Amino acid sequence: MPYISEDTINRIRERLNIIEAVKDYVSLKKRGRNWIGLCPFHTEKTPSFNVSEEKSVYHCFGCNAGGNMFKFIMEIENVTFPESIEILAKKAGITVEYKQSVSDETGKERELIYKVNEKAAFIFHFYLKDRPEGEKAREYLKERNINPDMIELFKLGYAPDDYHKLHKELLKEHYKEATILKAGLMLKSKKGNNNYYDRFRNRLIFPITSGLDKVIGFGGRIMDSNASQPKYLNTQETQIFSKRKNLYGLNITRNHIRDKRQAIIVEGYFDLISLFQADIKNVAAPLGTALTNEQILLLKRYADEIVILFDSDAAGNSAAIRSISLLLSTNLKIRIVQLPSDMDPDEFVMKHGQEAILKLIQSAPSFLKFIIKDAFNKYDRTITEDKNKILQFIFPIIKQINNEILKSDVFRYLANELKIDEHILLNEFSKFSNTGASPILKTANKPKASPGSLVLAQRYIIMTLIENPEYIEHVLKKANINCFDDPLSSTIMKNIQELYQNNKQISLDILIDNIQDNKIKEFITKESLSEKYNHDVKKQLNDCIFKLRLHKIDEQIKIKNNKIKELKEFNEIKKAEKEIQNLIKEKNTLKQNKNYLMV
Ligand SMILES: [Zn+2]
Repeated sequence: MPYISEDTINRIRERLNIIEAVKDYVSLKKRGRNWIGLCPFHTEKTPSFNVSEEKSVYHCFGCNAGGNMFKFIMEIENVTFPESIEILAKKAGITVEYKQSVSDETGKERELIYKVNEKAAFIFHFYLKDRPEGEKAREYLKERNINPDMIELFKLGYAPDDYHKLHKELLKEHYKEATILKAGLMLKSKKGNNNYYDRFRNRLIFPITSGLDKVIGFGGRIMDSNASQPKYLNTQETQIFSKRKNLYGLNITRNHIRDKRQAIIVEGYFDLISLFQADIKNVAAPLGTALTNEQILLLKRYADEIVILFDSDAAGNSAAIRSISLLLSTNLKIRIVQLPSDMDPDEFVMKHGQEAILKLIQSAPSFLKFIIKDAFNKYDRTITEDKNKILQFIFPIIKQINNEILKSDVFRYLANELKIDEHILLNEFSKFSNTGASPILKTANKPKASPGSLVLAQRYIIMTLIENPEYIEHVLKKANINCFDDPLSSTIMKNIQELYQNNKQISLDILIDNIQDNKIKEFITKESLSEKYNHDVKKQLNDCIFKLRLHKIDEQIKIKNNKIKELKEFNEIKKAEKEIQNLIKEKNTLKQNKNYLMV
C-alpha cells in the first residue's frame, strides 16, 4: 500500500492549526495561553481538556488523553494514522500525495477489509434492485412502505438464499479468502477443510457505515417472522467493526443531530429508516446492544439532548434502564418516549404520521420522572414496605446524577410524594451511598510510586530538550545515551538523537508522531503544558547531567569492586584496580568541572 509523503504531513501542519482541528468536536474557550473545553474522551462537568495553539498539542488533566492533532483525530474518529491525515488534509484543502512503499501490515489489512465490505455492499444492493432473487425482498420493503430513495440512501441490500453466492462472487473479483474471512462475510465450515459458507443468507441487508463513510459491517434481518433464526444478525467484531463504538445511520444523520442538538435513539434499523423517511432525521440506533459509554460519548459531540424511543415492552426492562442511567452522569438531557402498547416506532409513524410522533417527543417526561412514575405504578406508595422497595429501585439511579440541584429537586419531590420527612430520606440515601460498597471506591488507584531523583533528572533533561532544542548538541556531547536508564526517558532520548543525527527538525509535534508508545506521547504532552522546563535552563540541565554522570561512574566503580572479589590472577586484579583508579580520577575531574554547561 502506498504511504503518505512527509511533505503532505508538513503542509497540513502549516495550513491547519490544532484549534481548527479540535473545535469541530469540542467547543473551546480561550483561557490564558491555552484553550479549554469539556473532554470528548471522558465524561466531565468542569473542563479539564486543554489545547495549546502555540505547542500544537492537547492534553486532558482528567483522563490523561493527549497528543497532537493527528493523534486527536485517530482517537476521536477511531481511525489509523494515515486515515487521520486524509481527514485533516481534506479539512485543510490539501491533496494527499502518496509514495509507493511497504506500509505496516495492519493498515494494509484494514484497507483490504474496507474494500471487500464496499464490494459486498455493492453486490447485496445489486441483488436487491436488479436480480430475480431479490424479488421477495423488494416486495417486503414495499409492504413496509420503504421508499426507493431510502433504499438508495441507506444502500439497502439483499443476501440471496444461498451458502456460496457472495464469497464465490468476491473470490471471482480476486479478493483473498483471508480478507473475506476477516471481514466476517464468510465462515469456515466445521466439516472438512477449505469449505466456506456465507454468513448472511436470505436476509435484508443494512450496511453499517463509519463516520468516514466507509462500510465497516452489516446488519441482516430475516423477512419471515416465523423463521427459527435470530431476527437480526450483525457482523462479528472485526479489525474495523466494533458494535460498542458505532451507531447505525449516524453517517447520514449526524448533521441533522448537530443542527437540532438533539438525538432520537431507536432500537431497530427499520425504526430509524421509517423516522427518517417521515422527515424526522435526527435519529441513531445502537447496533443490537443497549447504549454503551462509547456511543454516548459519540452522541455528546453532536447533541445536548437524547430522546429515547422505546418499544412499549422494553421500557420497564432493567437492562435498558441501566444503560440510560449511564447518561445521567453526563450533562445530557434525557427524555423517554413510551409508545402505546405493542407498537414500535416504525409502526407508530406509519400509522399516525410525523406530527403525532413529534407531539409525543415534545411532551415526553424526563428520564427521572419516567423512572419514578414507573416505580409508583409498580408499588403501593402508601405502604411502608413498598416505600422501601421504591427507594431501593430509585437510589442507585439518583446516585448516578452529577448535578446537585437536580438531585435535591428529586429528593424534595420524592419526600413529598412518599410522605417522608426530607431529612430522613437524605439520611437513608447517604447510608445507601456509603455502605452500598461502591465499585469506584474499591478500585481506587493506589498512590503511584513517585519516580526517584535520577529518573526525575532524566525526564527533566528530555523535556527541556524538547522545549529548547538548541541544547541538544551540548547534551549529547556531555551525557552518554547510556546514562538514560529510565525506559521512558531513554525512548524519547533515542528519538531525539535520531532526529538530530538526520538533521531533522526537533519539536514536540514531530516527536509525538515518531514515538509509538501512547503512554509516552501522553507523558510528553502533559509535561510540555506545565511550563516547568523554561526557567534557568542552562543551570538545571547542567545539574541534571552532572547527577547522572556521577551516578553512572559510581555504579561502574561498584560493579568493578564486586568483580575484584572473584578474581584470583594477580595480573587481572591489578588491571581491575587500575580501572577503578581511572574511574575515581574521572569522577574528580567531573566534580572540578561541574559547571561545564554554564561556560
Ligand atoms: Zn479526558
